[in-house]
Amino acid sequence: MAIVDCLSSCHEELRTWRHDLHAHPEIAFEEHLTSAFVAEKLQSFGLQVHRGLAKTGVVGTLQVGTSERAIGLRSDMDALNMVELNEFQHRSAIPGKMHACGHDGHMTMLLGAARCLAQTRSFDGTVHFIFQPAEENEAGARVMVEQGLFERFPVHAVFSLHNMPGFEVGSFATRVGPLMAAADFFFITVRGMGSHAATPHVSVDPIPVAAEIVLALQSIVSRNLDPLDSAVISVTQINGGSTTNVIPDKVKMAGTVRTFQSSVQSRIEHRIREIAQNIAAAHEASAEVHYDRRYPPLVNHPAETDMALSAASDISGSEFVQGDVAPIMGAEDFSWMLQARPGNCIWLGSGKGDPSVHTPKYDFNDDILPIGASYWVRLVERFLTRNG
Ligand SMILES: [Zn+2]
Ligand SMILES: [Zn+2]
Repeated sequence: MAIVDCLSSCHEELRTWRHDLHAHPEIAFEEHLTSAFVAEKLQSFGLQVHRGLAKTGVVGTLQVGTSERAIGLRSDMDALNMVELNEFQHRSAIPGKMHACGHDGHMTMLLGAARCLAQTRSFDGTVHFIFQPAEENEAGARVMVEQGLFERFPVHAVFSLHNMPGFEVGSFATRVGPLMAAADFFFITVRGMGSHAATPHVSVDPIPVAAEIVLALQSIVSRNLDPLDSAVISVTQINGGSTTNVIPDKVKMAGTVRTFQSSVQSRIEHRIREIAQNIAAAHEASAEVHYDRRYPPLVNHPAETDMALSAASDISGSEFVQGDVAPIMGAEDFSWMLQARPGNCIWLGSGKGDPSVHTPKYDFNDDILPIGASYWVRLVERFLTRNG
């Protein structure tokens, strides 16, 4: 590993920051202590600090030299509504909240890079360090973009990095084009007519109707889509009834759809409505479908991905950098920033045997803190190169 000099000496300090953030997780748009922590650090490094975009967002600006070129580097800040099952000292001190996606580590790496670059000033241009709220479910990136992120802080390109358990420590992986899927939510309410459970003939029982809908939805991917197109439809919630001897009057269901192409997304939305409504009608019930398009697919741009791969190779060597990794059906709201500006999202391997993100025993691997921070530094030096 070719760790940048100013980062190899401060690994312990980065670990301390990361543990502090890990112990104090805050969820979407409530990242008040977190953004104060970030803003205070950026200020102490001598950056110009702007707060309040998307409520708790923070942008730190570092300008060096005379070049007009500018780059945006983005970290997420939010935690999850989860109970942490780790026992170590820096475990969550906030009941029911947990940094289970490693955003504590992402913030620490970007802060480390900010301090390093403020010291070395080894570039020519402007770096905007973007700390974004509410990556999980609430699309904080979209809110920042809608509130004028790139008008107030213009950049030629924007980059992000996410830790990835299951990939070798210090390895990097990304690809040109779609890396992560679009994520939509759907909600179906099946309405029938309740009755005593012993007199089903006077009811319109919504439970078998809901069951038929769940099974029929499985046929969309297998029968309605081109086999070479990727998609996921998962029904993740079913709620109906309150006791054993009453037929309820409604059943509520919810789930998620993952796709890469808008034509596939539209086809699925259309089929979910048709299947739910027509199965319900066939049983004298009705179905109301609410379909919510949440995150667009995350699509990396070619030139920026090349630059990200070069910076990653500078740190880990090209044998640990994969430029054609397979896309995944998970989603990431950085996609909104990539719809507004060209850029790249790269994954940084955090260990083959590590628990996956979003699980109660996950913890960000501190070993990769200086690696990710060094990546940011080299990326800035390459993008805002002094000789033009
Ligand atoms: Zn996550
Ligand atoms: Zn995440």
